[in-house]
Amino acid sequence: MSEKSRIGTDLDLDADGKQVTRLFVPNPSNTSAWGAIVVPIASIKRGDGPRVLLTGGAHGDEYEGPLALWEVMRELSPGAMRGQVIVVPTMNVPGMQAGCRISPVDHRDLNRSFPGDPRGTPTSALAHYISSELLPRVDAVVDFHSGGRSLSFLPCGVMHQLPDPEKAAKTEALLQAFGAPWALVLEELDAVGMLDTLVEDMGKTFLTTELRGGGRVTPEAARIARRGIWNVLAHLGVTDARPDAVPEGRDATRYLEVPDRSHYTLSPSAGIWEPTFELGDRVEAGQVVGRIHHPETPERAPLSLEAKRSGVLMAERVPALTAAGDTLAVIAKER
Ligand code: CA
Repeated sequence: MSEKSRIGTDLDLDADGKQVTRLFVPNPSNTSAWGAIVVPIASIKRGDGPRVLLTGGAHGDEYEGPLALWEVMRELSPGAMRGQVIVVPTMNVPGMQAGCRISPVDHRDLNRSFPGDPRGTPTSALAHYISSELLPRVDAVVDFHSGGRSLSFLPCGVMHQLPDPEKAAKTEALLQAFGAPWALVLEELDAVGMLDTLVEDMGKTFLTTELRGGGRVTPEAARIARRGIWNVLAHLGVTDARPDAVPEGRDATRYLEVPDRSHYTLSPSAGIWEPTFELGDRVEAGQVVGRIHHPETPERAPLSLEAKRSGVLMAERVPALTAAGDTLAVIAKER
């Protein structure tokens, strides 16, 4: 990671004050010879203090975080804070422009591309810039996610299972400050290349979210995202608490955990997915969580899929049309 980034910007990360500017990620094409992908970025800084990176839109079909981060970019002023807040609200700009998860430019998933490569594709070069230029400057990272077009989640703040009890306690305090109605403690199925893993390996505090999804924004999810990010900034000591953004505390947050693969129901075959529970419902192991219907052979009985674990239905597939290998349901254990 010692090689210099090819990304161009007039951003001065050492300067006090507020800068809202852009990163230019080289992307020459047939229609733009010296073209670039333009990624908005802000730095709001005053003196010494907590240093935080806020990111969203790694997946271009997840909108709740960007909404909250655009508000922070507009409203946070250096006079009303201490330390530094760096905001990259829509990391995957081509994905957001196209309404899709993966970058349509190089077909890479940004959140599987860390730490990145300065000589790589645009997605990989941006991951490298974030890894080498931004992460070393901060103590904590909040990265917003939601279900995107294909999944919907109970609105939750998310942390990973962390082996170090001190780091786990610090992260859980941040999760609680975020103040979503649900809090999820997760073991990632596929942690290689994730921003999450890199930040945690660097010994920094990492919080993420899963705020609804379905390729849309709900009023509730937007409210949770906005209130949550101001709560987090106050908790970290960047700002003073907003009177309308008081964390609800542990009593108001319901804790869930997903320790392993047995909590996921994946589709064994293509078809039309009919779920039998609503998000937030209690499901018992052995109950049918849904059925896959076969449109070409309606004389066949649908395939019933049973829950392997008891718990709360915390995520579900949104489109009924399903391919083999799609995640259909995630049942979380109550903590
Ligand atoms: Ca996501």
